[in-house]
Amino acid sequence: MELSSLSIGELHEKLLRREIRVKDIVEDSLKSIEKKEDQINAFIEVFRDEALERARELDIILEEKKNLPLLFGIPIAIKDNINVKGHSTTCASRILLGYKSLYHATVVERLLNEGAVIIGKTNMDEFAMGATGEYSYFGPTRNPHNPEFSPGGSSSGSAAAVAAFEAVASLGSDTGGSIRLPAAYCGVVGLKPTYGRVSRYGLVAFASSLDQIGPIAKSVEDTARLFVTIAGYDPMDSTSMNLEVPTIEELLSSEDVKFTLGIPDVLDEANIEESVGKKFDEVLRFFEREGLKLKRISLPHIKYSVEVYHLIVTSEASSNLARYDGVRYGFREDADTLENMYIKTRSQGFGPEVKRRIMLGTFALSHGYYDAYYLRALKVRRLIKNDFLEAFKDVDLVILPVAPSPPPRIGETTDPVSLYFLDIFTSPANLTGFPAISLPSGRMEFNLPTGFQLIAPSFREDLLFKIASFYEKGHGFGLH
Ligand code: GLN
Repeated sequence: MELSSLSIGELHEKLLRREIRVKDIVEDSLKSIEKKEDQINAFIEVFRDEALERARELDIILEEKKNLPLLFGIPIAIKDNINVKGHSTTCASRILLGYKSLYHATVVERLLNEGAVIIGKTNMDEFAMGATGEYSYFGPTRNPHNPEFSPGGSSSGSAAAVAAFEAVASLGSDTGGSIRLPAAYCGVVGLKPTYGRVSRYGLVAFASSLDQIGPIAKSVEDTARLFVTIAGYDPMDSTSMNLEVPTIEELLSSEDVKFTLGIPDVLDEANIEESVGKKFDEVLRFFEREGLKLKRISLPHIKYSVEVYHLIVTSEASSNLARYDGVRYGFREDADTLENMYIKTRSQGFGPEVKRRIMLGTFALSHGYYDAYYLRALKVRRLIKNDFLEAFKDVDLVILPVAPSPPPRIGETTDPVSLYFLDIFTSPANLTGFPAISLPSGRMEFNLPTGFQLIAPSFREDLLFKIASFYEKGHGFGLH
């Protein structure tokens, strides 16, 4: 049996009974990486020696331990847009080749304080722009349930590594769905916390008003362990909120789930593929049988989410990515003049999707177009949020599929715009800042998992965890 297939709680029991040592967990995870990486390609870098060294240190501490910190001895994979000191942070882009992180992101610092073992950095769409994991300089990640298919993106490696038992859990980032989509496609749990709940210090900025770091794991409890570890105020991030973080016990008590779930009217118009729709209906019926109330709600502006999201995301990205000029970070292509050096470096350093977004964003922000595009997008963003706030007066949570269609085959989608529409149900949580969790709901054709999503009001991750553990216990993820 692969140890990485166990939950954190199960591994901790074994550690405390001295049946295994941290070394065994880490070696097992490394073995699994060695065996599967040729096919899956979830990792950009594996911290082999460092992880084994860390295991040795933790095994010495283990001798005197009667109870363990939340993530003691647990191999965790980190998306390669989050800084781990002394290692590369490539964002899966050529332009960052050779760049080494000078400091730990706050989330990494916090994982280490709870005893985690960082096992490596994971593959992703370049600068987190994408939905299939195919826009990586290091080649696509493959879905562990069926390698002909995409694992979803942009946190493709973080979701695939957990599903393939290469790591016990991982961190991803979610700007428009990049944690929830790959989690659903790989049959694992993914959480996008409320904007401001988790520090972004040390996360490479894509679209700063939307980016959030969050956990990916096999179970709701594992996800909660990572969430409480990384959440909380950080003076290094000016958008971080100084609010108390609930305890694991508070998050997982699933007794009181007499919730009302809102079903948005957008589902009638959205082009949801039949297989996805069927699984979603099964989930609705489960909640209904269990006595939760289902209520139709109207979210009149949510249908503009993808357009609004892409205007904002490209505008912010064009500004954030201006810093990669060949002078300060990573890759440089020398030339006769400074300006030519910029041009050559950026032309050769960025991939096609990143260039597309920089150009679109620069256009949307330019004089004469700013009011018509960017400013208008901000106004509609507010309307989308207002719709949700109105709905939350009547319902506790909003329920939606994660994506309208199952994972695409690798290499199948050549039209970027059709990929943008995979975010129709995920981007609203980023535009509004609300927290959202993606949970597996069984398998479809070709052995591929699917999932659904719950969205809560700001800083009510407790509601998400309560209903998620209720669903996990009562229904299960349907993957066995
Ligand atoms: N698929 C979306 C995009 O391409 C989401 C990306 C993300 O959440 N990082 O922008």
